[in-house]
Amino acid sequence: MDCIFCKIIKGEVPCSKVYEDDDVLAFLDISPNNKGHTLVIPKQHHETILDIPDELLKKVIMLVKKVSIVLKKDSDGINILQNNYKPGGQLVPHIHFHIIPRFENDNHKFEWSHIKYEDGEVEQYRQKIENLLK
Ligand code: 5GP
Ligand code: ZN
Repeated sequence: MDCIFCKIIKGEVPCSKVYEDDDVLAFLDISPNNKGHTLVIPKQHHETILDIPDELLKKVIMLVKKVSIVLKKDSDGINILQNNYKPGGQLVPHIHFHIIPRFENDNHKFEWSHIKYEDGEVEQYRQKIENLLK
């Protein structure tokens, strides 16, 4: 399989590793939004958060928290991003969490536009999602 993160895990492609154990790996993003931007991945290949087994996801998210605590020591805030599928901005199809240290006045902005619900629509969405979660 032609997965860049699997190649990093196998040692076929180098990375700036900050932590690894049997199940998970953390390394610096090659193209950081801020210095220290870290990626946390499972060693097993799963494409998205919808695919990864819960027990493995728990290990990944615990490392995300640990990395966040460390990065916060030298920063003012933290963004945790996790993109799924191409329309969701996922470029590497091996689940990963971005942990991005943020600084006062680092001038990054989320350029997300906001939309409004039509009358009654919010309740339709609420009901549909609530039912599917049962
Ligand atoms: P995505 O858009 O899939 O959420 O983010 C993929 C991230 O992986 C990007 O931030 C990109 O810079 C990073 N990335 C892609 N290829 C490599 C690589 O070979 N090494 C490292 N360290 N990061 C990579
Ligand atoms: Zn992979």
